[in-house]
Amino acid sequence: MKYDAVVVGGGPGGLTCAALLADQGVKVLVLERKSRIGPKVCAGGITKGGLINALPQSLIQRAFSSQTIITKYQHLVIDATGPMIGTVNRRELGTHMAGEAAASGAEIITGARADTVSDDRVIYILGDRSYEAYYDFLVGADGSSSKVRKFLGIDSSAPHCGVGLHYVVGDAGDKMVWNFNADSFGSGYSWIFPHRDYASVGAYLADGSISPLQLKKNLDRWLGDWGINPADGRFEADKINIDYRGWAFGSRFLIGDAAGFASPLTGEGINPALVSAEAVAAAIITPSAGPDNLQRIIRRHRSHRMMSRTAGRSRLLALVLSELSGLLLRFGIIGFDKFEMA
Ligand SMILES: Cc1cc2nc3c(=O)[nH]c(=O)nc-3n(C[C@H](O)[C@H](O)[C@H](O)COP(=O)(O)OP(=O)(O)OC[C@H]3O[C@@H](n4cnc5c(N)ncnc54)[C@H](O)[C@@H]3O)c2cc1C
Repeated sequence: MKYDAVVVGGGPGGLTCAALLADQGVKVLVLERKSRIGPKVCAGGITKGGLINALPQSLIQRAFSSQTIITKYQHLVIDATGPMIGTVNRRELGTHMAGEAAASGAEIITGARADTVSDDRVIYILGDRSYEAYYDFLVGADGSSSKVRKFLGIDSSAPHCGVGLHYVVGDAGDKMVWNFNADSFGSGYSWIFPHRDYASVGAYLADGSISPLQLKKNLDRWLGDWGINPADGRFEADKINIDYRGWAFGSRFLIGDAAGFASPLTGEGINPALVSAEAVAAAIITPSAGPDNLQRIIRRHRSHRMMSRTAGRSRLLALVLSELSGLLLRFGIIGFDKFEMA
């Protein structure tokens, strides 16, 4: 079958791009390897500059106008007049986005794993059969282990990836908490993100200075301090591609985690996926359009990478930077939005 555009991956990036393309009459196919759109290892945190105001309010599980921030020597609470960070459920977000893409006319096939990518087609496996989808434009929105990225010859193996691990627990209180204690999490951090009737409690690290196993142990210990028993939760982990190397390669494009757009500092990747999806759709529909919003994301990615790399040089630097950030936040010299990918 021949399409104008084939989008590999039905995450937030792929679905957004497909909806925008289909809206403009582009014949687009989305291939999603999972049988169900949505579920993904993710804390579901969304930011003020990102999705909080862009999504239907019914999709926002919780919204927080105050953030608790912990470092080795500080414990501070930052307040704002409106929501700073909110949470979404990835299954609900996926269902919503797939509905929008389908309503726009995109064809979405679930349970369809892109197996082989070549110059003019994607061969995908559905059930026990393989099919060919020919394309004019190819969009790789297939996450941190992207096949399309590999086809383009860009490596996405460790150590270029960060790692995120979390537990989904029943209850973890009412506060949104960020713990930048460098002793336990190096240049990374741990979090408590409450949702409506569950919470994501996890840790992220970009530089590999702590093994994933040790990171998990440190997370378990910290959760114990908060009275949260990890054994009561469901454990999940995934890599997060933070190695941005470009998004437009002629008639082929990369979006979101496939492009390495997630923040090296925080692992936030949903909003960059959407912004890059918009840029790719615009580039396909109106090649002369400038990707202004994406340029902002690329600049933010660069500054997050610089901060993350600096903190990753030594435990002492991570400690100094986390304490300094705490002080700057405490006295309002920088806003919490400095940490957003928006
Ligand atoms: C523990 C953890 C916590 C996180 N917390 C946050 C957070 O709070 N906020 C935030 O913004 N980000 C968070 N992230 C990052 C966020 O999940 C990603 O950045 C985001 O999902 C990227 O969206 P995407 O559309 O680019 O890719 P994805 O959401 O990964 O979607 C890619 C899709 O492609 C599909 N796919 C992959 N390979 C194939 C194939 N061969 N054929 C067909 N389909 C394929 C996958 O099944 C998937 O559905 C977290 C990540 C982790 C690991």
